[in-house]
Amino acid sequence: MVPQVLQLDIQGTPQAWITPEQAALHLSTDDVAWAIGESRPLAVLRGGINALLQRQSVLAIPPIIALRGQARVNLFDVEPTVTRRKLFIRDRFTCAYCGDLQDPRKLQAEHIHPESRGGQYSWRNLCASCPACNARKKDRTPEEAGMPLLFVPYVPSRYEDFLLQGRNVRADVHEWLAARLPSHSRLH
Ligand SMILES: [Zn+2]
Repeated sequence: MVPQVLQLDIQGTPQAWITPEQAALHLSTDDVAWAIGESRPLAVLRGGINALLQRQSVLAIPPIIALRGQARVNLFDVEPTVTRRKLFIRDRFTCAYCGDLQDPRKLQAEHIHPESRGGQYSWRNLCASCPACNARKKDRTPEEAGMPLLFVPYVPSRYEDFLLQGRNVRADVHEWLAARLPSHSRLH
């Protein structure tokens, strides 16, 4: 699996996970304002042969790059999208009602305030649940069911969201993001 490059805006806010090839394009068009981890490139890409010099061009891809210019939207105003995969990682693959560690294939995304009663599919109203607890709780609130939550659901910060959605993230990039998590994060 290809390692991912973390793309930031010029202020250091995460914008996207991109491929080394996409990063190479930014580097070759001089879009990159600064980079982190240049001494340990994520990849070394070989380009075409330079006809004049008879030499193949070689481009070292840093693991984190910051692009010039403004981000198109103020990303801090946007709540990260909920996916089951990200939700289960946030909750450390643990059922929020009984605390059992679960196989991710068995976990369910549970509406804390029941969906049938207007509960939303949102970070604050969802938790990971084992099938048994989900079946036992039915269309009741945790209070009605006598099933208090073992941990408080929360909206991931932008840095946390990038950790949740990242795949094949190199350890130093993971650490850079983890160092910027709020204290309440369960990813610590
Ligand atoms: Zn459970």
